[in-house]
Amino acid sequence: MSHANVKDPWQEMLKRFNEAARRLNLDEGVWKILSEPDLELKVSIPVVMDNGKVEVFTGYRVQHSRAMGPCKGGIRYDINVNIAEVKALAAWMTWKCSVVNLPFGGAKGGIIVDPTRLSMRELELLTRRYTAAIAAIIGPDRDVPAPDVGTNDKVMAWVMDTYSMHVGQSCPAVVTGKPLLLGGSRGRTDATGRGVFDVLQHAAHRFNVDLRKARVVVQGFGNVGATSARYFHDAGIKVVGISDVRGAIYHPDGLDITKLREWVAKNKFVVGFPGAQPVDPMEMLTLPCDVLVPAAVENQITEENAAQIKAKLIIEGANGPTTDEADKILEKMGVQVVPDILANAGGVTVSYFEWVQDRMGFFWPEAEVNQRLDEIMHRSFQEVADMAQKHQTSLRIGAYMLSVERVAQVYKLRGVYA
Ligand code: NAD
Repeated sequence: MSHANVKDPWQEMLKRFNEAARRLNLDEGVWKILSEPDLELKVSIPVVMDNGKVEVFTGYRVQHSRAMGPCKGGIRYDINVNIAEVKALAAWMTWKCSVVNLPFGGAKGGIIVDPTRLSMRELELLTRRYTAAIAAIIGPDRDVPAPDVGTNDKVMAWVMDTYSMHVGQSCPAVVTGKPLLLGGSRGRTDATGRGVFDVLQHAAHRFNVDLRKARVVVQGFGNVGATSARYFHDAGIKVVGISDVRGAIYHPDGLDITKLREWVAKNKFVVGFPGAQPVDPMEMLTLPCDVLVPAAVENQITEENAAQIKAKLIIEGANGPTTDEADKILEKMGVQVVPDILANAGGVTVSYFEWVQDRMGFFWPEAEVNQRLDEIMHRSFQEVADMAQKHQTSLRIGAYMLSVERVAQVYKLRGVYA
């Protein structure tokens, strides 16, 4: 089992949304509106490849809700990108922005491509042509993309430049996750991992997990996994297992994350790290541990492995790592799952700070970014946990209820334009 297509992520999203809507007694009209994205754009992207031949790629941009303000959401370059996944990721962005109370609706984009097989020139042409194809629907007041799996600050720089050429002026606020020199924000690269660390501390406190004695397992060692692991390690929390797309490693006394990062910088993957035992990547999710942090891809914790999970706390660094069936099993077992729309919201929160700073033309020191981020993560965690407690439900449904209720209020106030 490896990737997103095992379950339809849009259906997985709808199951949770419908459950929250039912418990909220949501207005029927708002329920119907939010059950479909506002806009789905599919584009063909021709690129003259290095061999002189034209190849045509398929790209998407989906805007789930435009009612809250501009849309916000990343651009994914991956061979498994498909419309159901992009729609789900767009809706999750609506709920995520609302959980942390940002003035954005949700969007997501993607191109079906394996970016590792493209040269730098081909990647730039692909990005620029895709940006031109979606230029009419993005913009600082319309829809603000950001990096996701397979894209990075360099790709965002090309998006910013291409869009700026189209509108005839430099427009840094059209994307976030840019290099600092182009109007990026200090603290953005670490923001998601820092937010994961923040919510781990609040959840441990609330659910009586002693982090001084805890053993943590992290799936994925990319931006989110490696940054979270670094924060855990720096705080003296033992990380006993780490996996990536190639394999997994384990050490019962804890892995030295500083040395592991150096190893991965040279060797790309975690396997072979001196002193650690290799383990089967899927078995790693069910190793004895107190905290599990899935920070890779969708559909990793399913009805097939949920019952074997030993962790008391799961902090979802990735988007959609747990299926709806698995949620039900974990709930019965008393495992607390801090859901993606809260746990990994640190990234979009600092993206919001970047957008604000670009529009002000005034940039904040890193300490200010981090302090504001920590406050938002703290407040949001308490609000979600209180909502879940009040309605005797899981943290996930509590988070959906909090966010759906906020979004619904905006729809009610705006009414339906005719
Ligand atoms: P990334 O590409 O930097 O890293 C992904 C990591 O997962 C890599 O180490 C890869 O080897 C590993 N991986 C891939 N498939 C795997 C598998 N089947 N088993 C184990 N490991 C596997 O991506 P990222 O930015 O760290 O994003 C990871 C997840 O977090 C995604 O779901 C993404 O949507 C989500 N997310 C990212 C951010 C952000 O700011 N980067 C913000 C919110 C959510």
